Amino acid sequence: MDVVIVGDGPGGLSAALFLAKNGLSTVVYGQDKTAMHWAQLRNYLGVNEIHGSEFQKLARAQAGRWGALLQDRHVTAVSRSGASFSVTLDGGEQVSARYVILSEGKSPRLAQELGANFDGPRVVTDKNNQTSVPGVYAVGRSARPGRSQAIISAGDGAVAAVDILSREKGQDFSDWDSPPK
Ligand SMILES: Cc1cc2nc3c(=O)[nH]c(=O)nc-3n(C[C@H](O)[C@H](O)[C@H](O)COP(=O)(O)OP(=O)(O)OC[C@H]3O[C@@H](n4cnc5c(N)ncnc54)[C@H](O)[C@@H]3O)c2cc1C
Repeated sequence: MDVVIVGDGPGGLSAALFLAKNGLSTVVYGQDKTAMHWAQLRNYLGVNEIHGSEFQKLARAQAGRWGALLQDRHVTAVSRSGASFSVTLDGGEQVSARYVILSEGKSPRLAQELGANFDGPRVVTDKNNQTSVPGVYAVGRSARPGRSQAIISAGDGAVAAVDILSREKGQDFSDWDSPPK
């Protein structure tokens, strides 16, 4: 895999959409346990009002349509393995990835185990949401505990994805589409 994403809330799914749409092999591991199922969104720009579960259904389908794999699995461990990362799934199966995006929500256990820097409960990231571990990004609630909003998580996921795409292309990249003429 080019990119493994841990967590299937708006942060993880937004990253997956950008990455898969632009040709990187991308898998999202998560078991649809996002906090979004308790939300009634009235503050997601461009969407008047939507139940969080309905938002998730649309978001999952959109990322999937562009080729992201969504798998109902729990990630038990992530470790560096040479130039890449080894991701261990429930059951012991291992998957290799060149980049890892952690969108773990309120309990950033894997970020901790990987040795990423923390500031209290917050995973410390740079402006592109990369952690202190090169190649590992943290997005959404775990990077902003206490300030968690769906649109911010989705924005974080996009920021991390666009940074990976820019690194892959060796220059700044923007994912722009224009309407048909
Ligand atoms: C009652 C309530 C109401 C809310 N109302 C609003 C609102 O009106 N507007 C708004 O903007 N926001 C609202 N929110 C907040 C919103 O739900 C969060 O901002 C959003 O879900 C954060 O997205 P995220 O992707 O960062 O993390 P999450 O949505 O928390 O997703 C993290 C996912 O990662 C998974 N995960 C973690 N570790 C692993 C692992 N090792 N392997 C596999 N999967 C893993 C978790 O199970 C979870 O599914 C509300 C939240 C609650 C609880």
